Amino acid sequence: MKSLVMERKLELSLRDFPEISKAEETLGPRDVRIKLHTVGICGSDVHYYTHGKVGPFEVTEPMILGHEAAGTVIEVGSDVQHLAIGDRVCMEPGIPDPTSKAARLGMYNIDPAVRFWATPPVHGVLRPTCVHPADFTFKLPDNVSFAEGAMVEPLAVGVHAATKARVKPGDVAVVLGAGPIGLVTALSALAAGCARVFVTDLAEKKLEIAASLSPAITPVHAGKDDLTATVMAATENWGADIVFEATGAPKAAAGVFQPLAPGGCVVFIGGQADPIAYDAGAAMVREARVENIFRYAHVFPRCVGMLASGAIDVKPLITRNFEFNDSVRAFEIAASAPVADVKMQIELPQ
Ligand SMILES: [Zn+2]
Repeated sequence: MKSLVMERKLELSLRDFPEISKAEETLGPRDVRIKLHTVGICGSDVHYYTHGKVGPFEVTEPMILGHEAAGTVIEVGSDVQHLAIGDRVCMEPGIPDPTSKAARLGMYNIDPAVRFWATPPVHGVLRPTCVHPADFTFKLPDNVSFAEGAMVEPLAVGVHAATKARVKPGDVAVVLGAGPIGLVTALSALAAGCARVFVTDLAEKKLEIAASLSPAITPVHAGKDDLTATVMAATENWGADIVFEATGAPKAAAGVFQPLAPGGCVVFIGGQADPIAYDAGAAMVREARVENIFRYAHVFPRCVGMLASGAIDVKPLITRNFEFNDSVRAFEIAASAPVADVKMQIELPQ
């Protein structure tokens, strides 16, 4: 099976990968086989490529990349009721052990035993087909494209973050970072009822894209503008009800409570490779609530529903599309962190 393989740090190849074909020869009764159509390039895929590891997960053997995926069902296990051959679907890439304590408590995303695509030793899906549990496979309505379907995975992070923040209608939010996760978080915060969302970044082009998404989004240049002063001026010196940290930069985290209103909530989304410092005193005088999220749980159907109804439009975030044959070059471009790009996707031959 011709796959995009990360051989080792800084080395990718598009080559046959017989081990995966063998591993997926048989289809379990509750599985479906999917022909992949579109796979998004995630920051974590790029980080594996450039650093050889993400946090504690190190690539020690060749691994297929890719976990943001949509495709078509081509084979259905004997016990599967809700999917049929020909259905267009998106897939949740993390499979927990359903009998684990975390899964039974509804927090399956933090099950230590979760198997997540393109997280060693589990292979990703930049390949022609995959076998996946039907329970983690979601049908796309006709008006949701494969490209949008492949955006459900990152969107799920934003929706999970907005859920954890407990957004109320009319809340004012700040999102630090206008990368793909920052922007899906801003869209999720608006869909959840925020009146206004301030989005910060250092890249002008990303701020332009942010501003184009909704008149309720105000771009703030992290290098030139004073975020706290801007938010205070807009809220009668009260501050934002919610601050979402979506940069993963220790410097952003250090000032995360400054624009926050008394009684407000900070949600940490951006991954932190090393321990970071934040201002616990500033959190205390606000009685700030601090939430952390790790991926998502139970939100894929909500995301599909919002894409179908138009409550959320992710199409402006998809800035580039590559053919599968071009995927090594796509990763090289992604690794250069082009400022004008939000989400790049790879389309597989059908
Ligand atoms: Zn991702």
